[in-house]
Amino acid sequence: MSSTSSALSSVASTARGTLYIISAPSGAGKTTLVKALLERMDGIGVSVSHTTRAQRPGEQNTVNYHFVDVDHFKTMIEQGDFFEHAQVFDNFYGTSRSAVEARLSAGEDVILEIDWQGAQQVRNQVPEAVSIFILPPSREALLERLSGRGTDGADIIDRRMRDAVSEMSHYDEYGLIIINDDFDVALDELCGLVTAERARLTRVQREQTALLASLLAE
Ligand code: 5GP
Repeated sequence: MSSTSSALSSVASTARGTLYIISAPSGAGKTTLVKALLERMDGIGVSVSHTTRAQRPGEQNTVNYHFVDVDHFKTMIEQGDFFEHAQVFDNFYGTSRSAVEARLSAGEDVILEIDWQGAQQVRNQVPEAVSIFILPPSREALLERLSGRGTDGADIIDRRMRDAVSEMSHYDEYGLIIINDDFDVALDELCGLVTAERARLTRVQREQTALLASLLAE
């Protein structure tokens, strides 16, 4: 483990915020679910990753991703700026330590929306991270979501399906699974998981010191 990753590991283990890893195949609705979770709950944010992939229409630099070129990305790797990084299909993606460290220390819960390779790296450094995998309700529903507006060719859709199956084959490395059939139900489940984490004994003991002391006073 590098000195940079052990720094984040120690921050994460003493921080007040919880670190979440959320993974899913493309088409499972992960980004929409996370966005809705952030609208519904306070004290939780999502880390903005760096990527070398091209910006898509509607995406904003520094909001959806930090869009950088390959040289910039490689320099960040050399400088040890990444908490985790991976090549996901054709592009590089990474979570910078600074995107996570300060927020966890300040008591904010932080979500990493990353692939299975990044998830493995995070779990190795921060075993207490809560990892969630989102699955589609059926192969047919996934195919429909991956087919987009029906303008893409069969070869492109086949490739998307193969990539999705490859990501899904890692579902059993995650402690918590959500099947996104009905969006509102899946969102309730996701919010419920965050709420349950906030009720953990160690966290309540850390955050409610004064209350517990006064309740237990003789
Ligand atoms: P997209 O290009 O569609 O936004 O994302 C493609 C894949 O890259 C998704 O599985 C997404 O979770 C993953 N990804 C996004 N950011 C990161 C990151 O910082 N690290 C890793 N390892 N994967 C990421």
